[in-house]
This record gives sequence, C-alpha cells and structure tokens, in this order.
Amino acid sequence: MAADTSTVWVPVCCGRMMRCNLFKQADGSVLAALVCTMCSKNITLEQEPLAEPSHYGEGTNLLRLLGSAKPPKTDRRKAVREPGLDEPTM
Ligand SMILES: [Zn+2]
Repeated sequence: MAADTSTVWVPVCCGRMMRCNLFKQADGSVLAALVCTMCSKNITLEQEPLAEPSHYGEGTNLLRLLGSAKPPKTDRRKAVREPGLDEPTM
C-alpha cells in the first residue's frame, strides 16, 4: 500500500496553527476567517470558483489549505527546529 504523500498548507501564527471559521453569507457564498488565538490576528479568505487562477498574475499558486475550527494547541515550532534549540528567541 503506497503511503499518501500529498501535502497541505497549515496556516500558522505565533507558532500555532490558526483557527479557521466559516461564515455563510446572505447570498449563499462562504467566507473563511483564519484567526490566531494568541494575538488575534485574523485573515479573511474568500471562496471563488476555480476557473482561471492565472489572472492573479505570474507565480500564482493553488494552495491546499487545512482549516480546522479546533486546531491542536501544539507548538508548530517544534516541527521545524533542531532538537536542543527550544529556547525562545526574544
Ligand atoms: Zn499570532
């Protein structure tokens, strides 16, 4: 059985995965809001038909984004840091 090697992007702020809330608009469209539970930064994502992403210009990428309403509270920095470099850099 082949392992699933496909990847997704995880929105991260303050070292944690951002929370993703979906809001249904009156016109039926859906907005997503990424919120950082640490610093309250929020990013709005608008949904749009996947017709012609190229009109956003060169270098436009389609990102598969993972959105979780209850993301784990694990520290994402552990995943990218070398072991032993756990001291916060402030
Ligand atoms: Zn933050």
